[in-house]
Amino acid sequence: MATMTINGNSVRGQSTYDVINPATGNVQAQAPDCSAEQLNEALEAAEAAGKSWRTNEDERRKAMLRLADAVAAAREDLKTALIAETGKPTSLAATEPDICVAWLQVFAGMEFPRRVLQDDSNALIEVAHRPIGVVGAITPWNFPLGLAMWKIAPALLAGNTVVVKPSPFTPMATLLLGEIMGEVLPPGVVNVVSGGDDLGRALVAHRLPRKITFTGSVSGGKSVAATAGADLKRLTLELGGNDAAIVLPDADLASVVPKILDTAFFNTGQACALPKRVYVPDSLYVEAVEAFGAGAAGIAVGDPTDANTQMGPLSTRPQFERVKGLAEDAVARGARVVTGGSAISGPGYYFQPTILADITEGVAVVDEEQFGPVLPILRYSRIDDAVERANRTMYGLCGSVWGADEDTARDIAGHLECGTTFVNTHAALLPTVPFGGAKWSGVGVENGVDGLVAFTEPQVVHTARD
Ligand code: NAD
Repeated sequence: MATMTINGNSVRGQSTYDVINPATGNVQAQAPDCSAEQLNEALEAAEAAGKSWRTNEDERRKAMLRLADAVAAAREDLKTALIAETGKPTSLAATEPDICVAWLQVFAGMEFPRRVLQDDSNALIEVAHRPIGVVGAITPWNFPLGLAMWKIAPALLAGNTVVVKPSPFTPMATLLLGEIMGEVLPPGVVNVVSGGDDLGRALVAHRLPRKITFTGSVSGGKSVAATAGADLKRLTLELGGNDAAIVLPDADLASVVPKILDTAFFNTGQACALPKRVYVPDSLYVEAVEAFGAGAAGIAVGDPTDANTQMGPLSTRPQFERVKGLAEDAVARGARVVTGGSAISGPGYYFQPTILADITEGVAVVDEEQFGPVLPILRYSRIDDAVERANRTMYGLCGSVWGADEDTARDIAGHLECGTTFVNTHAALLPTVPFGGAKWSGVGVENGVDGLVAFTEPQVVHTARD
């Protein structure tokens, strides 16, 4: 029976709920449903643990490295839990424990910025970075472990304590991570609870967390912001994206198309920062559509535990229904199916890798975040028009420009309204590089020194000198 980790103890829920394996559609586990009292216990434990955790930075760094070793040792179990709850292919599932290890190691060695604003005979004025206190960390189902660690590692280094709430669709790997953290870290430093959206709402509304770090949908983020705002809690929001990839007329399709496909169908298209609509110039359109179609048709879809599988099922039934609905709607509105277009019959939430052509804005699969393996290829005549159309959205996570002339591509990328612009790549994310969204794609950044500072309160230390 899976348990939560509260104050270093393994705690059963007062009730449980079903966790589904998306590769079969069958119930594969029971997850604890955290009660209001248990949430309160977790937050009070975090508050109590913070009193000593915040005092010794060196000890924190050492504890993070010990935790990295413990996560590495549990890699296989974490991977197995992830495959069963997300449907990720084995090789991809294995990267998440590795991400946890890398993030812990990088943050364990990261320095806080030290800013001395004045140092003269009148005064020494410095800006220090203090812990915020208890952090509530809420995560989605697409990268349960990786995205949790994006929050936990910097929060810990900054001297905060944490209560983590994973998605109700994918709690199992995070609960296991909670057990590992409970064994390595002092009791209460990181607590993991599980439950539905209401538990997330209760965590945000509770008086104890002074910062909420949330990754999820735009609608969830707006709700979190409203509740957190009423209590002036600090906030980081990593929300959805509808990234445009713009192919320039000088692009070499033979090299560019496979790279765009690799990222667009990564994790069955279920990641925030992937190409979700591709803009191709008139001069290359016919050839590019053919190449995208041939490439997508060659992707091996199947059982995530089969070593040959490149793409697994959608991770949840609602997401499967949504992707299916978006593809059907696009076809009804005149889009041409180049390859795929349908669900795969049989058990599990499988959908064919799909390329849609002869499609433009005004169709939901272009205007909204599809978060699945359905990629629309749009045509443009003028590059300024492509950029304007790429920007005509409230999303602003990432964008990419693909072309032979790097300077031209970089110049065009600079006109995209988003948190990260890539040239000749997409979705390359690193622990040392800040990541965040413009417009409705987020508030603040994660990762890098900027992401670390976001887990601190600035404190000016002003020493007068005569
Ligand atoms: P979601 O918003 O439905 O849920 C995310 C988490 O928030 C879950 O744990 C859920 O239980 C909780 N939650 C939902 N409503 C809440 C509320 N009102 N208050 C507090 N907690 C609440 O999102 P999802 O469907 O799990 O995830 C998919 C979305 O996440 C996509 O839009 C995707 O783009 C986005 N995402 C963004 C990033 C990023 O870094 N920008 C990364 C991954 C996923």
